Amino acid sequence: MVLHACHATFVSVFKHVIYYIKVETKYIFITGGVASSLGKGIISASLGKLLQARGYHITIQKFDPYINIDPGTLNPYEHGECYVTADGMETDLDLGHYERFTGIETTRDNSVTTGRIYLSVIERERRGDYLGKTIQVVPHITDEIKRRMLRSESAAKEHLDFVITEIGGTIGDIESQPFLEAIRQLRWELGQSRALNVHLTYVPYIAAAGELKTKPTQTSVKQLQGLGIQPEVLVLRTEHALNDELRQKVAHFCNVDPTAVVQSQDMPSIYEVPVNMQQQGLDAIILRKLGMEVGETPPLGPWRSFLERRKRATRVVNIALVGKYDLQDAYKSIRESLAHAGTYNDRKVNVTFINSESLTRDNVADKLAGMAGVVICPGFGQRGIEGKIIAAEYTRTHDIPTFGICLGMQMMVIEFARNVLGYDDANSSEMSADTTHNVIDMMEEQKSVTQMGGTMRLGAYACRLKAGSRACDAYRAASADNASGNGDGLRIVERHRHRYEFNNRYLAEFVANGMNCVGINPEANLVEIVEIPTLRWYIGTQFHPEYSSTVLHPHPLFMSFVKACALSN
Ligand code: GLN
Repeated sequence: MVLHACHATFVSVFKHVIYYIKVETKYIFITGGVASSLGKGIISASLGKLLQARGYHITIQKFDPYINIDPGTLNPYEHGECYVTADGMETDLDLGHYERFTGIETTRDNSVTTGRIYLSVIERERRGDYLGKTIQVVPHITDEIKRRMLRSESAAKEHLDFVITEIGGTIGDIESQPFLEAIRQLRWELGQSRALNVHLTYVPYIAAAGELKTKPTQTSVKQLQGLGIQPEVLVLRTEHALNDELRQKVAHFCNVDPTAVVQSQDMPSIYEVPVNMQQQGLDAIILRKLGMEVGETPPLGPWRSFLERRKRATRVVNIALVGKYDLQDAYKSIRESLAHAGTYNDRKVNVTFINSESLTRDNVADKLAGMAGVVICPGFGQRGIEGKIIAAEYTRTHDIPTFGICLGMQMMVIEFARNVLGYDDANSSEMSADTTHNVIDMMEEQKSVTQMGGTMRLGAYACRLKAGSRACDAYRAASADNASGNGDGLRIVERHRHRYEFNNRYLAEFVANGMNCVGINPEANLVEIVEIPTLRWYIGTQFHPEYSSTVLHPHPLFMSFVKACALSN
């Protein structure tokens, strides 16, 4: 028995060592041409998924050419949602796709901007590290980009077989030049068996001529070639299927193998893309180009089951998103989390966006008519909050399932304080610094903060759930990966992005009047979840559950919420 155990340990250590020696990280760079918004993030996530399904260790990172240090300070109208990693980095929303597709957590290393690159070079210059040299874009900025692209320190530690790097923006942008120069150098230094470029372009359809046009693709590839980068694989985004002749033509003009010209046609769901890419052999082509054995095509069983279940789920459940950003991408993760939970509840979630700025007492019944549930969205600042409060009052008094997230939860609390506890001026000190009833108040540690960027309470923190609460039951029912323990409820870990919190001075009064605090951060005693148990589903979370819902692991609270909505339909 002991011998057996020893042997097992030896074998496992040995395997580990062999693996460690054998691993030679390969680098795949994904660039885009012709136009933005072609779905580079989805292609990167899909490729990651396909390589992961072959048993490889992968990571996907995004390099953005803008000068902000991170998108945390950007208005969602500029940049869509700000996604938050478990280790507390405010990042590009594409990282959300990477996590939802692969289930692999990203970190602060997976999101890099020009601003971060310059900041670290300039900080080093100020320290005198460059010993009097003139600091230049080439080599100093490009070296810093290369260092981060290689992930040299972590690639070995993480045993990464593949690092997929997506470059934001479009070829031809002035600001992406240093990133492309870094890719050119790396391809040269690493060689063809370790570095490869996938270029995504657009093939427009000219309706008047009834033709698909490849010229923009040819021009875009020429631009890349002019920068010294020859793409090995082309992914052509198109609204109409490309025929063989067209592929041959593109291959011929762009110095690419015809088999390495893949099309990405519009799909009914982004989650169909990995399967579609696998059918066209995107992963196999890449492995071949990198001189690796292709092996068997993985069946993608659970993924395909999800897609099939999604197709079968045709019964609609209407859910309203009450927020102030009238833009698809602003609440990306919430929309995706609802879609995941919809599928696993055998429903098609139909999301209706309701602009909270236009919600009034007079029109709320009309606007929410036919909604089986309401999500009150996160956000910052005064604009649109009264509409969120009106929505919270309406759904509370009409017992419509309601999910308040971060600012949404805070608005549920304010509404309850105003209309149930009778504090007419109840507010958050974010909106009204001198309100007498600051039921939402600035967190103590935030009071000394003067800088805006990256200074909120960010990333993963623990929360203990009260046994018997609906929230606790939801996590228990899902046997959630991020939940542990038993006895007095579960311990969960969720991601955060806020400066304000529930004011514990009012806790007893809320509980006495029917709004319970059912999730508490054990270290800071901060209220993480509120719930009205007498209603069908009325829960607010200070954290953002939407950041951790994935295709194969829908989030327990979204699961439970959509279930309640489906029942009330
Ligand atoms: N503005 C609120 C706060 O900072 C809520 C933030 C959010 O919704 N992410 O606490």
